[in-house]
Amino acid sequence: MTMTNMKCDVCQVGDAIGVASTSLPFSCAYCVTCAQHGADPEWMMNYYLFDVANGDPDMIKAGVIHTFKDGQYMSFHEWVKLQPVDVAAIEFQKSRYEKFMGASDGE
Ligand SMILES: [Zn+2]
Repeated sequence: MTMTNMKCDVCQVGDAIGVASTSLPFSCAYCVTCAQHGADPEWMMNYYLFDVANGDPDMIKAGVIHTFKDGQYMSFHEWVKLQPVDVAAIEFQKSRYEKFMGASDGE
């Protein structure tokens, strides 16, 4: 639930000024600074990486998606570089995607 502590859902530090839409159709509390940066909550980076890009960061257009982590704003690609490489999770996502695409071909 958003705004329960009146803090920003993106940085968890700034005072919430209101609720606004993220880059996906999802709303969360924003502080002034995060709203001006157009930043998304960090959990959305995982969503972009695994459910949108199927584990391939290059599927996301550079410079479009931003988040806040460890006290600074960063792009999606900067965030990806900080993540431990979880090859098993990437392979699982790719196999799930391929299975889904196969199923949608009428099988
Ligand atoms: Zn904030």
